[in-house]
Amino acid sequence: MSTDLIIKNALLVTCDQRHSVLEDAAILVSGNNIKWVGFSRELENHNPANTEIIDATGKILMPGLINMHSHCGDTLFRGLVENLPLEQWLQTVWKSQAVILRNAENCRLGAELGFAELLLGGTTTLMDQYWHPDQTITAALDAGIRIATGGIFFDPHGMDGYSIDHRATQAHELFARHGGNEEIFVGTMPHGTYTAGPDSIRTAVEIANQYGGFFSIHAAETKVEQQTIRDRYQTSVIRLLNDLGALSPRTTLAHCVHVDDEEIDLMAANKTNVVHNPLSNLKLASGFAPITKMMAKGINVTLGTDGAISGNDMDMWFAMRLAATIHKAANENPSAISSHETLHMATLNGARALAAEDMLGSIELNKRADFILVDITGPHAMPMFDPVSHLVFSAAKSDVSDVFISGRHIVKDRNLLTLNLSDIQNRITELQPAVKAALDE
Ligand SMILES: [Zn+2]
Repeated sequence: MSTDLIIKNALLVTCDQRHSVLEDAAILVSGNNIKWVGFSRELENHNPANTEIIDATGKILMPGLINMHSHCGDTLFRGLVENLPLEQWLQTVWKSQAVILRNAENCRLGAELGFAELLLGGTTTLMDQYWHPDQTITAALDAGIRIATGGIFFDPHGMDGYSIDHRATQAHELFARHGGNEEIFVGTMPHGTYTAGPDSIRTAVEIANQYGGFFSIHAAETKVEQQTIRDRYQTSVIRLLNDLGALSPRTTLAHCVHVDDEEIDLMAANKTNVVHNPLSNLKLASGFAPITKMMAKGINVTLGTDGAISGNDMDMWFAMRLAATIHKAANENPSAISSHETLHMATLNGARALAAEDMLGSIELNKRADFILVDITGPHAMPMFDPVSHLVFSAAKSDVSDVFISGRHIVKDRNLLTLNLSDIQNRITELQPAVKAALDE
């Protein structure tokens, strides 16, 4: 067996189904995959010459985080609009976006800034919905981050100015260009039932089904959205999506804050995935998603940060801590959600939603070598009785020292190796005045 990389002396949090944790553990990586998992003392049988060896003493080795809902291009507008409910907030942000995002290069720049932030914080896979998704994919390939994205559907025309017909063409083109690449997840992504009509959503479902791709949409985020759909179609968001054939195991619904018991049953019956975005829901005052009810019904609940305008950063560690905390208070039950369940939301559940459970989401034999090292030498990491509760309740994005994706070293000693961060930052600074001025155009 050829070995390219050995990580040894790690505290291994596998995130596998059994929540296995191994002390003084080691893994061997060959090519893109994990080829052996065991204890460091067993390494002498697997220690070929000329193999890079990384000593992970004082570090947790765990799978890279899977962020199932983001809009990386929105980093360009971080902090631009504050203190408004979703609907007014969107209308305001869209004024600036309509000017700035006419230039596809700006979408790419925003994606690069977002990827830099996510990679340095230990996210290795993300589902991203943004204008000009072709730019997102190109930037993701350069950054080395694993991307799930697809054609946006938005009526009558979105920030990129495309017609409804062009959107279907664009969605087909993305599948034609990248659908055969098993390292890229391609799908279709209508913005929401209030911004894309039934015909657009039906088309998006058909295209996703045609290629076996995923389908993702914002759903039941606010009370106003539910009322809008009730006024327009005399039904609720989830029932409408069900009527349009949009609920399936390849579907991931973002938010699902305002759903009734029957809608939860509909999602469960269709094995639909949900992505929970606690910071966005809190900051936009959308409400508390009933994720413990959903989990009790067997729904696969994943975790996301949403874009940097609804949560101001894309910190999966903060998302984990919020998810693990707010539902205890909302349910007045300290055991409403466990740290193990929360960690799975940020890892294995995301892999399942992408139909990639055999490839991602845990440190196991023959999975992709997507893993991170988390420094546990700081004062906030001592004493450590349970590594999983440390990761959920005490760890921070700044603790991530190294990131590997498909065995490739992407972040080394907290330095991003794949993108020129200072160049990205200079270009963001140059663009900033135009972002602000566009609000008044
Ligand atoms: Zn969103």
